[in-house]
Amino acid sequence: MKKSKIQIFRLISQLFFLILVTIAGFRHQILGGGPSGSPPVDSICPFGAIESIYKLVATGKFIDKIDWSALVLLIGAIISTIIVGRYFCGWICALGTMQELFGKLGLKIFKKRFNLNYKLDKILRYLKYILLVIILYFTWKTGTLVIRPYDPFAAYSHIPAGFKELWGEFAIGFSVLIISLIASMFYDRFFCKYACPLGAFLGIISKISIFKIKRENSTCIHCNLCNKKCPVNINVSGINQVDSAECISCLECVTVCPTNKGTLKTHIKNKSIKPIIIAIFGLVIYLGTAGIGHISGYWKTNKTLEEIAKIDDKLAPENIKGFMTLKEISDIYKIDIEVLYDELGITIKQVPEDTRIKKISELLSSSDKKVDEEVVRETVAKILESKK
Ligand code: SF4
Ligand code: SF4
Repeated sequence: MKKSKIQIFRLISQLFFLILVTIAGFRHQILGGGPSGSPPVDSICPFGAIESIYKLVATGKFIDKIDWSALVLLIGAIISTIIVGRYFCGWICALGTMQELFGKLGLKIFKKRFNLNYKLDKILRYLKYILLVIILYFTWKTGTLVIRPYDPFAAYSHIPAGFKELWGEFAIGFSVLIISLIASMFYDRFFCKYACPLGAFLGIISKISIFKIKRENSTCIHCNLCNKKCPVNINVSGINQVDSAECISCLECVTVCPTNKGTLKTHIKNKSIKPIIIAIFGLVIYLGTAGIGHISGYWKTNKTLEEIAKIDDKLAPENIKGFMTLKEISDIYKIDIEVLYDELGITIKQVPEDTRIKKISELLSSSDKKVDEEVVRETVAKILESKK
């Protein structure tokens, strides 16, 4: 079947954002974080802002790795959800796009889509809401990104770091990613439907959305193509209006409907609006919010080194990161650089001052000395303790 122009437009939008976050992940792994590096993908994920809200209200600060940029994108996602439904999920989210691409591959291989047992599917749909509550409870309580090691999106962005890191810090998140993509070859958007906490949050917001898809029963030929195309299994042909929190505004049902008589129409506040306007409008709202964030100076993705190094306004050695250099650590933690080298048992000849910590082991590969993030953290903690 020929792809409609709107669905081609959607695919372009999805690929654009997938490429964008992939590049962001690569840049962060290659250039490192911090002010001189490239921000982590967490800072461009709207869910990070939801996780940070409690800390932001209580202390005026974001959780580590999250910044104003995430809040700007969350505002864009909320506004677009209210006006055009869960557009973020259907048109922008990189994880949703990856699942759709694997879904297309699965369809090519198996020539059919599979559905879970109706009752099991219904029960599992609640799982994402439960996960949302659990994640927010523990994140708000601890003030840290507790979900990060289990997050398939964070794992995806660490693929360029290599399998050692993936199977270390992100073993569970990477497994969730692989399972979700393989499962999506059989069941459309497996992770979105059952486990995505951001999808759950936007689903709740979508309940007050002014966007609706309405079906005109008098012109419907009950071909059920809309049902077959719907990636989240909504029974479009059996209802007069799509009200489900599961709808991701992909417009697949509207574009596949063969009647050409406006059987399925998109509405904003009960006014019929052409699907292509909805498609453009969603993108304008999301990118427009990011643009306003830039112009107003709220688009901030990178914390200063001092901000990164502190917990509750106190310098914390446990916040030393692999992208920091020994010179930067000496400056931030106010430690004499010679003392730092002495305590680490290395010389400036072996390891120049501007070497990132995660690169030190490469320079020491010919000796039996081991200096990594953990060793530097322990050494700095010991020096600070001795200064008290
Ligand atoms: S109801 Fe239509 S717009 Fe909503 S998810 Fe299903 S196919 Fe997409
Ligand atoms: S695709 Fe259109 S005609 Fe076919 S069942 Fe759905 S709404 Fe009716």
